[in-house]
Amino acid sequence: MKRPLGVLLFLFLLVQGVWARQIKVFINRGETFIDSLVAHDISRKEAAMVAYALKRYVNLNRLPEGFSYYIDYQGNIPVQLVIPYDVGKVYDVDLRRIDVNPKKLKVRIQEKSFYGVLGQGDSVFYSIYDQTGDPNLAYQFVSIFKYRIDFHTWTRPGDYYAFICQYLTDDFGNAKYGRILVAKYVGKKVKADAVYYKGAYYDSKGYPLKGVFLASPVDSGWLRAPLRYKRISSRFTYHRLHPILGIVRPHLGVDYAAPMGTPIKAVADGVVIWKGWLGGYGRTVKIRHRGGIITQYAHMSRYAKGLHVGQRVKEGQVIGYVGMSGLATGPHLDFRIKVHGRFVNPLKFLARHAHYRLIRVARKRLRGRALAYVRSQLSKLDVMLASAKTLSSGTLKASD
Ligand SMILES: [Zn+2]
Repeated sequence: MKRPLGVLLFLFLLVQGVWARQIKVFINRGETFIDSLVAHDISRKEAAMVAYALKRYVNLNRLPEGFSYYIDYQGNIPVQLVIPYDVGKVYDVDLRRIDVNPKKLKVRIQEKSFYGVLGQGDSVFYSIYDQTGDPNLAYQFVSIFKYRIDFHTWTRPGDYYAFICQYLTDDFGNAKYGRILVAKYVGKKVKADAVYYKGAYYDSKGYPLKGVFLASPVDSGWLRAPLRYKRISSRFTYHRLHPILGIVRPHLGVDYAAPMGTPIKAVADGVVIWKGWLGGYGRTVKIRHRGGIITQYAHMSRYAKGLHVGQRVKEGQVIGYVGMSGLATGPHLDFRIKVHGRFVNPLKFLARHAHYRLIRVARKRLRGRALAYVRSQLSKLDVMLASAKTLSSGTLKASD
């Protein structure tokens, strides 16, 4: 009588094993979290309850691109969701009780290094963004150096940067970049380095980057650029071969290439004197400022809501969005400045209007072991840089 029992037990385990299964669900473009649940044997009502229970923990309206989660089935009945939301963070949802159970996972921290060279018209922000796919990393880099470098006007083609940052992963396969630990910018006009140490960044001499301004931007009433751009695709010139018309014509503005829909800001306080279609310029806005200065923003995809002629706008106020209306080969902002009726070079004009104040503050310097740490971190970066440069002269490169 022993054998039949063993067989039964075996069959029972087999059935359990076959019937308990987990599937991975990707949320397709245009699909909501609730839609994806409904597509997997969960009623719309139950799905809505799950979404409601998750609201505290997860922003379901802004899930990251390529987001996925798991459904555990028993037979053909879904019993649990497993949602790997962030590095080290997983949510289990019991579908029988609609109950969310947040779980913490161990986070592994590795280091990754990046190196990049600026091409003609490239911006540091977009160079890092393109390379890493992470706008936060690009923003971190720019922020670290904001008291030392004006990335709008001090960068030149051939300048290069390098940095080492944290790379966080967990057993679920979640991954993201973390804090920048060491960073360096080597330009024709400016050089700077930074090492993270106990909550702040320090340079190779041990001085904090923040609060010890070599040059501090002063609000001069003029922005350094009317938008966050990818690169400068065309400069101010009296002789340019027009990309569409195929003839040599002056280009009395600067073209900032930027993704469709990038917000465009008024570079200074003023009054809107034109809003509308303007031949090859497409959707265009003109603003009059003090001192006989007019700025012009062309090829917009759309205007800011409610913008109208006669309206007063403030420096930095969004007036429209990047597009390619009129004669344009791709999305960009054609930006022009007229002073007393004559076009001037906008880049030079804005650079001249950007004021810097040199500040010396009583500053505490790192010494001893702390300074030694900063220097060892920087030499780590230099070793990486030396190999990156021989491997790929000028091209972008990432490595562990
Ligand atoms: Zn242009």
